[in-house]
Amino acid sequence: MTESCLQIDGHQLQVKRHARRTRLAIRVRAQQVEVLAPPRVSLKLLEKFARQHQAWWLQALQTAPQPLQKYALTNGAAWPFLGDRLQLQFVQGKPQVHFDQQADNRLLICQLARPENENSRRRVLQKWWYQYALDYLAERTQRFAQNLGRQPSQITIKSFSGRWGSCDGRGRIQFNWKLLALPDWVVDYVVVHELCHLVHLNHSSAFWQLVEQHYPRTREAKLWLKQHGHLVIAQL
Ligand SMILES: [Zn+2]
Repeated sequence: MTESCLQIDGHQLQVKRHARRTRLAIRVRAQQVEVLAPPRVSLKLLEKFARQHQAWWLQALQTAPQPLQKYALTNGAAWPFLGDRLQLQFVQGKPQVHFDQQADNRLLICQLARPENENSRRRVLQKWWYQYALDYLAERTQRFAQNLGRQPSQITIKSFSGRWGSCDGRGRIQFNWKLLALPDWVVDYVVVHELCHLVHLNHSSAFWQLVEQHYPRTREAKLWLKQHGHLVIAQL
């Protein structure tokens, strides 16, 4: 594999040539746009191709999570949150949590007896996050369940290391708490995916047809998860 660069409107795109590649492609990985190409395609042609798809990769750059940044539990840290940021504040006081949706960054003020203690901060944040995830995902599930005409028997929030959700034969749906760190339109895809397992408990073509019917941005969301999902899981 050989590498070179393209400059387009202030962005640096990495060109990755591979002997076995036959078609041009563009992907965004960790805030970097990559143009994948066969060995002997001219830079001029690559630039033309990259410009044709500029709207797509600019959008992909915007929604890509920051790379290799472990989200901290410090005062003022910002966590990814439904396509936005959740800014954390830890202050001393009577234990309570205040969530301000209207703030620029969505502000979560965690008041606790010992804000200097990292375990206490984590406990408070985790409790709030799980409850918020449950309320939010139950609401989204309800919305799509109506159209589908099926209801899950139970919704729970869990910690999974390699998946976003699951649905079993008894109609119980489990969602990964890390879903809240994804853009809201990707979360909706996961919700619809699990709901459709209430109809088909497999990944047959009939299942995928149903998912796409109830969520038109399915392909886009699957691509987003393929490109960035592992980063979100690794970072939280
Ligand atoms: Zn599935």
